[in-house]
Amino acid sequence: MREHSIAAIGADGIGPEVIGAGVRVLEALQQRLGDVRFNVTSFDWGSGYYRKHGVMMPADGLQQLKPFDAIYFGAVGAADIPDHITLWGLRLPICQGFDQYANVRPTRILPGIATPLRDVGPGDLDWVIVRENSEGEYAGNGGRTHRGMPEEVATEVAVFTRVGVERIMRYAFALAQARPRKLLTVVTKSNAQRFGLVLWDEIAELVSRDFPDVTWDKMLVDAMTVRMTLDPKSLDTIVATNLHADILSDLAGALAGSLGVAPTANIDPQRRYPSMFEPIHGSAFDITGKGIANPIAAFWTAVQMLEHLGEADGAGRLMRAIEIVCASGVMTPDVGGKANTQEVTDAVIAAIHGSNV
Ligand code: NAD
Ligand code: MN
Repeated sequence: MREHSIAAIGADGIGPEVIGAGVRVLEALQQRLGDVRFNVTSFDWGSGYYRKHGVMMPADGLQQLKPFDAIYFGAVGAADIPDHITLWGLRLPICQGFDQYANVRPTRILPGIATPLRDVGPGDLDWVIVRENSEGEYAGNGGRTHRGMPEEVATEVAVFTRVGVERIMRYAFALAQARPRKLLTVVTKSNAQRFGLVLWDEIAELVSRDFPDVTWDKMLVDAMTVRMTLDPKSLDTIVATNLHADILSDLAGALAGSLGVAPTANIDPQRRYPSMFEPIHGSAFDITGKGIANPIAAFWTAVQMLEHLGEADGAGRLMRAIEIVCASGVMTPDVGGKANTQEVTDAVIAAIHGSNV
């Protein structure tokens, strides 16, 4: 029996609703597969915890999480607490404390889900965006002086290190190599940003020599938005800086149909720490408690989690179950359906047990 320990942190808003649905799906997979156990421990951290204790998680939170094989995370954000407190109090300390430097975002048009792009269907858009998740433009390096004065100055200095760029580049090349098309696009803005992003170009060239079977090209980020929109088929694996990939992956999510289906994984490729798997969406307090949150993003990120845990069979089975249910039209209102969270979850569980998956 293979065993995996999973820390489930639903946190805020619809987070606990979709993570609860995801845990039910994992239980169904465990039953169906028979030779694997998911030992899920739930943590009540988040804004509710903050209102009681003044912090989003206990001081030894990271120590508590460290022994787990993976973290299954919902979302943070509450109407009555500033976003920088919820974000910097729980999600970012986990990403940074566990050096989850690769943020991996698969994007595909699921069957049954409409893309805003003309003449594009499932199969024409199948990307994985790899976002540098530890430095770059979000390194937090900067400051403000002369606040409120006419001569006020603010700086926001991007930080690119050889170690940081090389490790994300190696991850991206290896991921591209593992996908059928073996195709990587390195995104920068090295015409205008001639220091850090020229370093990106140089390191891409160096790392590419270790992956002779990967075809790769370079794009400037502005031109990349055009290519993603007009020629989605020409792309497969994409790597970009923290800021650029943040923006490109929102575009990717929109092109694939909805935020409610988009997953992400925050990975420590060296496996020194647990990696964290989450839907891209936030806590969606406009629909919290209504039972209509789309659980597909939370299920798809569970597929990423299973892949990371070495459970390829379970990952494949869950992904096929998701596709069958989307194609059958059992979907939540955000993607044009009439079903609620529980009905979609029940349908995915039935598909997991079905013989055609
Ligand atoms: P959001 O993603 O929570 O919601 C945006 C819109 O998409 C809303 O109309 C919402 O109802 C809808 N939506 C999102 N997920 C859905 C789902 N699974 N099913 C159906 N509809 C869905 O973004 P927001 O409204 O800008 O932010 C709300 C809160 O979430 C804020 O506090 C924000 O800081 C936080 N947030 C957190 C994360 C995170 O934890 N990773 C990410 C984004 C936003
Ligand atoms: Mn973003």
